[in-house]
Amino acid sequence: MSGLPTEKKTDERNESATMLILMKPQATAEQIYRIKEKIDAMGYEAHEIPGATRIAIGITGNEESLLPDAFMYLDGVEEAVPVTKPYKLVGRHGKVGDTVIAIDGVAIGGKELVIMAGPCSVESREQLSATARAVKNAGATVLRGGAFKPRTSPYAFQGLKEQGLMLLQEARRETGLKIVTEVKDIRTLGAVNAATDILQIGARNMSNFSLLEAVGELRTPILLKRGISATLEELLMAAEYIVARGNTNVILCERGIRTFEPSTRFTLDLNAVPMLKKQSHLPVIVDPSHGIGIADGVPAMAMAAIAAGADGLIVEVHPDPATAKSDGGQSLKPETFATLMDRLRMLAPCVDRTLTKGNSI
Ligand code: PEP
Ligand code: MN
Repeated sequence: MSGLPTEKKTDERNESATMLILMKPQATAEQIYRIKEKIDAMGYEAHEIPGATRIAIGITGNEESLLPDAFMYLDGVEEAVPVTKPYKLVGRHGKVGDTVIAIDGVAIGGKELVIMAGPCSVESREQLSATARAVKNAGATVLRGGAFKPRTSPYAFQGLKEQGLMLLQEARRETGLKIVTEVKDIRTLGAVNAATDILQIGARNMSNFSLLEAVGELRTPILLKRGISATLEELLMAAEYIVARGNTNVILCERGIRTFEPSTRFTLDLNAVPMLKKQSHLPVIVDPSHGIGIADGVPAMAMAAIAAGADGLIVEVHPDPATAKSDGGQSLKPETFATLMDRLRMLAPCVDRTLTKGNSI
């Protein structure tokens, strides 16, 4: 059986072995309802997974393995497939095609690449506005910028917090860009969610299961970054936490892992792109900025990520990286970012993608 290298037969795995019920394309709403009712009566949870041509119903909450016979002969059922992977809802097995997340004109996971760009931290109105305009002109469709920053040192700049959220909304009004910003904890989730189009869960919070459950209750798209030492299976399990609560709008993000190599900040694991794409239907984007941690190397890694099949990028851009309050050393100047975008536009057709031109504002 093919799988991720970390895949092991653990007790936990056996306990949660379950079933995916693939409905016939012509299955009626009534038939789907009956299946869900049966799952409910058995004391398990049913999850509807919409696909391009048919729906699947995933079952969770069972402690013993289920037998296909219990579902296979019910009306409207095409097949009942036992799932041995630990992730049930984010895996490819249950869904035909890819998840495409649409945010009012911006689609993530479709043919068009999505480029998110902006400063590591929101620092001031001028800084954010200048960056937003520059990245919009270059063709980005989502503005990134941290307002609540998780910093290694408690003495480092922690972000402009609520004021940062306000400036992000101003920049959205000014440019029409969508916003992605990090939510650091449950305490500030309400405020951050109200201000953003996409909620970023940072690498340090990938295993904060309470936060994952909390964002699972929302319907806001979640950009889930891979933990610094997390395996791909652990990343997929973190995504599963969110999807199991009903929020199917999850974007996976490879942002570099910690290895023995000290010459770069992290090691961008581009293996993650084809591996995640093979295992999961969720969109996969890459953060080359944190991945290499050195501005000079960012364009090369950005190109490599798209060549590897990523659905998009999240890139740090600052109008004056030398004075940035965080991550200046890995931030691109606006003109370097614009050059990178031109090159990405030439690369896109080689991987059957498009990247439309920006429009000046
Ligand atoms: C960031 O995007 O600025 C950030 C802190 O990312 P990560 O969680 O990947 O370190
Ligand atoms: Mn950063």
